[in-house]
Amino acid sequence: RSMSTVTIPPPACMLRPLEAPLRYLFGPGPSNIPPRILTAGGRPIIGHMHSEMFEVMDEIKEGIRYAFQTQNNMTISMSGSGHAAMECAVFNTVEPGESVLIAINGIWGERVAEIAERSEQGAKVHRLVKAPGGYFSNQEIEQAMEKHKPVLFFLTHGESSAGLCHPVDGIGDICRKHNCLFLVDTVASLGAAPIFMDKQNIDILYTGSQKALNAPPGTAPISFNDRACHKMFNRKTKPLSYLFDMAYSNYWGCDGKPARIYHHTGPVSGSFALRESLAILAEKGLEESWRKHKEVAAYLYKGLEDLGLQLFIPDRDLRLPSVTTIAIPDGYDWREMLAYIMKHHQMEMTGGLGPSVGMVMRVGLMGYNCEKFNADKALHALQDALKNCKKSKA
Ligand code: PMP
Repeated sequence: RSMSTVTIPPPACMLRPLEAPLRYLFGPGPSNIPPRILTAGGRPIIGHMHSEMFEVMDEIKEGIRYAFQTQNNMTISMSGSGHAAMECAVFNTVEPGESVLIAINGIWGERVAEIAERSEQGAKVHRLVKAPGGYFSNQEIEQAMEKHKPVLFFLTHGESSAGLCHPVDGIGDICRKHNCLFLVDTVASLGAAPIFMDKQNIDILYTGSQKALNAPPGTAPISFNDRACHKMFNRKTKPLSYLFDMAYSNYWGCDGKPARIYHHTGPVSGSFALRESLAILAEKGLEESWRKHKEVAAYLYKGLEDLGLQLFIPDRDLRLPSVTTIAIPDGYDWREMLAYIMKHHQMEMTGGLGPSVGMVMRVGLMGYNCEKFNADKALHALQDALKNCKKSKA
């Protein structure tokens, strides 16, 4: 038998057509995608180094700058999901032995703390911890900063595991005072709740494509201001990751050099889709997008309360408009309710994540999905589950 003989046959599954059901994606993401964005992503691709691709990238950059409300030149989209941006932010700005401070009130701070610990052997990671849904006063943050003298402070704006939208005002100023970079995660909140990168003195901001932006998962906008650039381009050690090294920014035309040099093959289709999602946001306007998310969320809160359900975040002003968390009702198994809703309504809602597992069920109505008729659909499915999943009192 020759070495060139195929001994592993074609797998039977590959000889069947692709199956992906139509589903209501009413969880914390990804969200359903409007036809215009799907169509953009389905266009024939071009080369990642073609001038037309660079134009699309330049347009994406402008779209991100609008969405982030920043004039930062160092604004790109990472090839990868939200985690790519999380790792990019930490890998580039923190060096071994430096201190970082992470606010943890759900899973996202925990993740970033772990990324910082893994990435920079010897980085001193200080955790400022609250129960899921808790929030930090500016005074608490400043006290922790005085104590730990971090080079980087991380905060999640839209804590999707808890359903909390954390206030940001004033924190950027505190960070400046203490010579610390302010890193903010808006993966779950961008387009759904106001954020002003420049005015709020946020040094590094990132988001994901698959939430209120309604693009497919796999790209992650990120922006660095001059303070952040100064720190990351004057480091003594090279960042741990080659792919996420912000030397990458040349490929996005952000380093002032005339020629863009190959860095890696960017996600061409994902970029087309992202460009279109940013175009839709620009056409609609940020204010309108924020208003709409708030309005539909308020409508959902009312409907949930009418069903006798309790919202997990008591203070309405602190609720994340894109992802609503519901306290698990007494006498129900949340897994059973969610499985029932998936089976009978083809609808995704999810349980908690990380520290909020067993505490909440989550309903996300983001971007394209953010409509009252979808809130009605979600409420109807929940009502049906409440009727059919009640545990018999043993
Ligand atoms: N941060 C927040 C607030 C998120 O909601 C998510 C995604 N659920 C992430 C980060 C991570 O993004 P991704 O799953 O795209 O890597």
